[in-house]
Amino acid sequence: MSEKKIPYKIYLEENEMPKAWYNMRADMKNKPAPLLNPGTLEPMKAEELAPVFCDELIKQELDDTTAYFEIPEEIREFYKMYRPSPLVRAYCLEKKLQTPAKIYYKFEGNNTSGSHKLNSAIAQAYYAKKQGLKGVTTETGAGQWGTALSMACSYFDLDCKVYMVKVSYEQKPFRREVMRTYGASVTPSPSMETEIGRKILAEHPGTTGSLGCAISEAVEKATKSEGYRYVLGSVLNQVLLHQSVIGLESKTALDKYGVKPDVIIGCAGGGSNLGGLISPFMGEKLRGEADYRIIAVEPASCPSFTRGKFAYDFCDTGMVCPLAKMYTLGCDFIPSANHAGGLRYHGMSSTLSQLYDDGLMEAVSVQQTDVFKAAEYFARIEGILPAPESAHAIKVAIDEAVKCRENNEEKTILFGLTGTGYFDMVAYEKFNDGVMSDNIPTDEEIAVSLAKLPRVDK
Ligand SMILES: *Cc1c(COP(=O)(O)O)cnc(C)c1O
Repeated sequence: MSEKKIPYKIYLEENEMPKAWYNMRADMKNKPAPLLNPGTLEPMKAEELAPVFCDELIKQELDDTTAYFEIPEEIREFYKMYRPSPLVRAYCLEKKLQTPAKIYYKFEGNNTSGSHKLNSAIAQAYYAKKQGLKGVTTETGAGQWGTALSMACSYFDLDCKVYMVKVSYEQKPFRREVMRTYGASVTPSPSMETEIGRKILAEHPGTTGSLGCAISEAVEKATKSEGYRYVLGSVLNQVLLHQSVIGLESKTALDKYGVKPDVIIGCAGGGSNLGGLISPFMGEKLRGEADYRIIAVEPASCPSFTRGKFAYDFCDTGMVCPLAKMYTLGCDFIPSANHAGGLRYHGMSSTLSQLYDDGLMEAVSVQQTDVFKAAEYFARIEGILPAPESAHAIKVAIDEAVKCRENNEEKTILFGLTGTGYFDMVAYEKFNDGVMSDNIPTDEEIAVSLAKLPRVDK
């Protein structure tokens, strides 16, 4: 069989872009556990979620049987501005590593927000607009989600209120200004604007904040403001659904050239890019049509898959959100302040958690100095300056390619390059100055936050 000549960058014709998102849950035998009402411990009903989330997004969230959701025309129009995103054969990296492996990466950093988050931001803003809302609230950690949502909201003329984890607000002033340029208001969290913010500040004066805490503030603000709902950039099923465009495009392109990946690798914070990248491949695996090795990569300083517990937990520090069954480090786990590489969330998508628990995917954790070494290596060879988050996947893709060299195996590796790192130069500076350190939580530290898991006999 003659292999078609594979170009350096694979772009698809417009008509090969997906017209529908794919919902992996439809093909899962063991469905992800339902969200629970923290008061009654009963599964959350749509009407209970309605004060917090947009109606159409709630439907997507709760639906674990519909395999395909049509992508509305308006969203496809927006996607056309930056999609299909390039799928790149890393010829230079392969050569440098002298590996027989073939390495491909799907690059999501080609839009102004600089990451895959725009794929879901535009969908969520669209449904909020369609419902006639005035605006949305959200949290942002490193700032990519807030930036993506600000862009999406300005496109649909919606108000956008962002609670930004205080440490990032201070360390990433340029991210903040990008959001403000797109018309969003940005508040450092914890803030005095919300009850939960005031409570957290009273209990932990001087705290630099956390994602879990910013989520609580954004949810409170949405539920107390007429015409507002809360939107979230990762973790939720609806976000994985929207992010399936990453995997669907990748699979269409690879199929076109007769390429089948053996190993698929993605970084995992809340699980949305990885869930999106793997979705059509995992679908085949779940239906018994094909097999793939799938690897989630997480930071050693926030190791939810590899050292967390599969249990019901709160999605936020303020304990106002529903309970989700997921791999978690406990909802008030806060990674060490010198952890610069993103992926700081204490929990993980319940869909990916279930797949991991069922042995359908693997997970590894990596230390941040190794991640930055891989980022620098990649930047010098492939040209793209990666986001630290993305570099987690790069690190493991390189490790796998080196193994292929040692074992003389001609495997095909696909990894997700989720974004660019231009706003992470403070972290790069630390790395370049040789002052970056690795911080791995002790078993005792993890045990302390896990001891506070809510008791749920389900
Ligand atoms: C947010 C983000 C991630 C991690 O989030 P997931 O939901 O796990 O995908 C990874 N890379 C980049 C560039 C991000 O902005």
